[in-house]
Amino acid sequence: MSHRILLLGAPGAGKGTQSRKLAEEFGIEHVTTGDALRANKDMETEYGTPRSFMDAGELVPDPVVNEIVKAALEDADGFVLDGYPRNLSQAEYLSEITDLDAVVFLDVGEEELVNRLTGRRMDPETGDIYHVEFDWPEDEAIQERLVQRDDDEEDTVRERLRVYHENTEPVIEHFRERGDLVEVDGEATPADVFERIRDVVAN
Ligand code: AMP
Repeated sequence: MSHRILLLGAPGAGKGTQSRKLAEEFGIEHVTTGDALRANKDMETEYGTPRSFMDAGELVPDPVVNEIVKAALEDADGFVLDGYPRNLSQAEYLSEITDLDAVVFLDVGEEELVNRLTGRRMDPETGDIYHVEFDWPEDEAIQERLVQRDDDEEDTVRERLRVYHENTEPVIEHFRERGDLVEVDGEATPADVFERIRDVVAN
C-alpha cells in the first residue's frame, strides 16, 4: 500500500519532527520545502533569492516551491509532505500532480507555538531539533554546535504566524470541508503525537 501523507500545521507544530519519524517508519520520502529552500537559500531565481523571503518570515513565491515539490514527488513512491501547501494556490497545484491517502492537521495553541519556535535550536550536522528548556542535549559537543534558525527570532516568528493565519489556515479549512482532515492534538509528547499519527496513517 502506498503512503501519500500530508502533514499540516503551524510553524512549530512539530511537522518536521513527526515527518522524519513517519518517513523512517513507513520507508517513504520526507518532502519538505523548508529544508529544500534552506539548502538553496542564495539560489538566484527570477523573483530574487529564497533568503530574501525566508529571513523576513514571508512565503517564497509559488512557482519556486511548486517546482521543488513536483520534482520531489516525481521520484517518490510514498511520501510525507511537510511545509507545503502553504496557501490555496499551492493546494490547487498539489491536487493536479498527486492524490493523497491521509491529511493530518497537528493542532497546537498560539502561545505554545511561540515558546517552541523561539527556544528551538538545530544541530547543523544531523538536522536534529532541540529546545533550550524542553529538550536540551546532554552531550557538550552537541550543545556547542547548536544554532538558532535565522527566522526563529521573536519578530520573525510573529510574522510567520501571521502569514500562517492569513494564507495557510484557509488550506486547512479547505481539507476540513472536503471531509479529508484528521485532527491530532499536537500538544502531547513527541512520542505520543507520533503514535496518534501512525494510527491514522495505518488505518
Ligand atoms: P519551514 O521550515 O517549513 O518553517 O519553512 C521556512 C521558510 O521557508 C518559510 O517561512 C518560508 O519563507 C519558506 N517556505 C517553506 N515552505 C514554503 C512554501 N510551501 N511556500 C512558500 N514558502 C515556503
